[in-house]
Amino acid sequence: MPSQHNSRSLLLRCRGNPQRASAASQRRGKMEEKIVEADGESGAEDALVGNVNKLTVSPPGYSGAPRKGHLVFDACFESGNLGRVDYINDFEFDLFIRPDTCNPRFRVWFNFTVENVRETQRVIFNIVNFSKTKSLYRDGMSPVVKSTSRPKWQRLPPKNVYYYRCPDHRRNYVMSFAFCFDREDDVYQFAYCYPYTYSRLQHYLASLERKHLPYLWREQLGLSVQQRRLDLLTITNSDHLSPEKEKKLVFLTARVHPGESPASFICQGVIDFLVSQHPVAQILRDHVIFKIVPMLNPDGVYLGNYRCSLMGFDLNRHWQDPSPWAHPTLHAVKQLIVQMNQDPRVSLEFYIDVHAHSTMLNGFMYGNVFEDEERVQRQAVFPRLLCQNAPDFSFSNTSFNRDVVKAGTGRRFLGGLLDDTSYCYTLEVSFYSFMTAGSTAPVPYTEETYMKLGRNVARTFLDYYKLSNLIKDNRPLHIQSSEGGSPTANSTAAKAMSVGRDTTDRRKEANQNARH
Ligand SMILES: [Zn+2]
Repeated sequence: MPSQHNSRSLLLRCRGNPQRASAASQRRGKMEEKIVEADGESGAEDALVGNVNKLTVSPPGYSGAPRKGHLVFDACFESGNLGRVDYINDFEFDLFIRPDTCNPRFRVWFNFTVENVRETQRVIFNIVNFSKTKSLYRDGMSPVVKSTSRPKWQRLPPKNVYYYRCPDHRRNYVMSFAFCFDREDDVYQFAYCYPYTYSRLQHYLASLERKHLPYLWREQLGLSVQQRRLDLLTITNSDHLSPEKEKKLVFLTARVHPGESPASFICQGVIDFLVSQHPVAQILRDHVIFKIVPMLNPDGVYLGNYRCSLMGFDLNRHWQDPSPWAHPTLHAVKQLIVQMNQDPRVSLEFYIDVHAHSTMLNGFMYGNVFEDEERVQRQAVFPRLLCQNAPDFSFSNTSFNRDVVKAGTGRRFLGGLLDDTSYCYTLEVSFYSFMTAGSTAPVPYTEETYMKLGRNVARTFLDYYKLSNLIKDNRPLHIQSSEGGSPTANSTAAKAMSVGRDTTDRRKEANQNARH
């Protein structure tokens, strides 16, 4: 379905046309001056507070009923985001991301539909107000697209995507992509990455509940500011839940950053595996309690924000002192963790917060830095084991840091709160692709490969607990080398426990300053 014509020449012709540039700047007027200046850290984009709502874009001066080919843009739906459309000419449109609610600094996620297209209509869409400058678009990332008659998301061919500093937009970074519409009756949808909405999660959780599994509980831990559910899943063999029993606990959260939709696919992969009949899952349920909050920021997800909550807070900077009215979902999760941590029978062993990364490839982790070298090495064990199980997970991208800027993150805060037998990680996955050991080109992630990473995360807990002797390995051989895993995983990780970090790791630790 994507355009096959030579879009580059078309693009260059448009950009180099001075008439087009002056006409466009007249149209944009004062408000855009403000918008462009707002790029980065400060400023406000008062004009872009809402999404376009079935906006028909006809040529300037045209009156009368819209014709086929006068595109109709819409983002008034769940997780939708498109704030404004400027007509440049019949085949080129400037598109503006609607900034996060109450926080104009963040403009990355987009998700909108286009209809009323003409068959073989070729267009160039320029997304002109990204708040980020570094981007995987330079490395081959492209937006995802689907249409009514082809409902499976796919990535656009990278050759149709350009990312550059644009002279027409005050040298702002612009992502342009060419597209050829091919079916008049289709509604086309474009997005930054595969959407995973609040409603999708609700349907998924409801379908799990209908199975009446004896080892799965769903509860409402709290409500968001806009009264959406904050769901908590507990997965374990019910024997574990009696009050007097010792409990080993793994806590997982996702979607504190609402635009990081790959985190939801990973989280669903973890859940799917843990509730399955897979022998590894059964053993894990017999020994460990899994607590999962699949969507920590349901309002942000619903609204189509990239990083913030309804009130414009980056919740992953508020772990130290969350307010029950301004950050109710974070407050509820923190309270639960603090309360569990005070129970002498509960040993909270892992906290993993799942994110997606806009400039790195592969899956990887961030961990904390400790004075105690032995603890540092123990902390490296889980990522090393995961690296053995998941071909897309990179231990060399994994790093440990103590940046001041990350002091309010879940991983950093809980790393300080919990005792030295607990491990707190951020699990990151690329918005774009992964490189495996043997690959020469990046492999773009799909919804399925994101979920597979989740399944691999889940089964890595068995390797970890076997290594720490909680679980005795009496499984049949065919289970031990399950789903692409390496039989050498445990010996490698065991070595990791005895071998100190190398200088590369130390250097990375010092240099690491990516956001999450
Ligand atoms: Zn994040």
